[in-house]
Amino acid sequence: MEEKKVQIDKKILFSLIGILSFLIIFLIIYFFFLPRFRFSDFDEKIDISFANDFSYQSDNVCYGTFFNCEKVKVLEEGSVDTSKLGSYKVTYVFSYNDKKISKDQIVNVVDNESPVIEINGEEPLNYCANGKGYGYKVLATDNYDGDISDKVTSKIVDDKIVFEVVDSSGNKGILEKKGILNDKELPIIKLNGESSVFIPLNGEYIEANATATDNCDGDLTNKITIDGSVDETKTGEYKLVYKVKDSNNNESSTTRYVYVYQASDYPSLDGKNVYLTFDDGPSKYTGKLLDVLKKYNVKATFFVTDQGLTKGYDDVLKRAYDEGHTIGLHSASHNYGYIYSNLDAYFNDLYAIQDKVKRITGFAPMIVRFPGGGSNTISANYDNGSHIMSMLTKAVQAKGFRYFDWNVDSKDANGAKTSAQVASNVINSLGNKNTYVVLQHDIKEFSVDAVETIIQFGLSHGYSFQALKMDSPRVEHRINN
Ligand code: ZN
Repeated sequence: MEEKKVQIDKKILFSLIGILSFLIIFLIIYFFFLPRFRFSDFDEKIDISFANDFSYQSDNVCYGTFFNCEKVKVLEEGSVDTSKLGSYKVTYVFSYNDKKISKDQIVNVVDNESPVIEINGEEPLNYCANGKGYGYKVLATDNYDGDISDKVTSKIVDDKIVFEVVDSSGNKGILEKKGILNDKELPIIKLNGESSVFIPLNGEYIEANATATDNCDGDLTNKITIDGSVDETKTGEYKLVYKVKDSNNNESSTTRYVYVYQASDYPSLDGKNVYLTFDDGPSKYTGKLLDVLKKYNVKATFFVTDQGLTKGYDDVLKRAYDEGHTIGLHSASHNYGYIYSNLDAYFNDLYAIQDKVKRITGFAPMIVRFPGGGSNTISANYDNGSHIMSMLTKAVQAKGFRYFDWNVDSKDANGAKTSAQVASNVINSLGNKNTYVVLQHDIKEFSVDAVETIIQFGLSHGYSFQALKMDSPRVEHRINN
């Protein structure tokens, strides 16, 4: 019994060895001697980095035995766009004589490069109590997404600021910089509206408020406080101080001055009266001059002409008259050679301009300004030695006219070329006298544009603006001819 058992076991063992040997022989034949397509290296699935070159993987295939493998023909189909992330399928057909085999390859174009963060600023970088950094610039660039600076986040870790950014493929870029808690920057506060505001007595002051921003706290507009107030029922200068503090107690302030002025129709005897006068118009600039005068309820005087440039502005002259300004007579022709040749010529010209004004306004003015002023010497070139200014200054008064020269020259006809120059020439001439008659020309835009500044200065410094009347204080030059 025992022997038999051993015999059976031996049988099984031999059979197994036989099968095994057969298999080994078969495999050896298969691997080394059977002709077939042989792939030494072929990836059915590969990743390729964005923007790198893709090349077909066909060199490592041959047909034959292990010992003698020959080149095959390769047909590739399908293209890979490495400028776009995604999955692409490429099909290879390998052929040798009439044998063919086809293989698919999945090519994944991926972005596995991390974005790069750069900081433009000196270490340690400043950060606020709320963790927000400031005073430096953050740049983040990614090989695929480009500029992703706006996606950078930062957090404070111990004494460092840790910047992080993730690109659209999930690659993370990290940068650490030394940081320091430090907020010494003041909030920025800005007034809405003008820093000087002029309102007539008993007018309404409307608070325009201000805005404030801070490097750490952002918008602080609703934290602004205003010190001071305006009493619209009392003339004077009022100071409003706008203040704002950031969370680190840095304070900024700005100031607005409000002037409550009284526009009076009558010159004050002991006050400082300014008579703005404008010669040679009306012109295309007179309309906007009237707008400014109206805004401040200031009355002025226009010594008008009938020169070519005044054509088409009769309605402006009418408006000036209707709005309470004084229309004075300058000259119809403004032609020195004619008007100063003799008395008849002068009065012919004067009555011509008076007729024009009367035709337009219904009123015949009796207030006069001589072209060149009462002190002019140019008239001596045309009057044949008759000293016509000496005669005229008496003759106009004998006929009931009243002439006015000036004691403040804006120099808009001799030297000043800008509004700023005109304004400062006038402003610097104003002092504590009772009467200032200012010479300007409303045919010059830069001179017209200086008027608002002059008025603002005057109103805020106690001057009263008046139009010339027949009984206004006399301002007359010395006669030189
Ligand atoms: Zn003139």
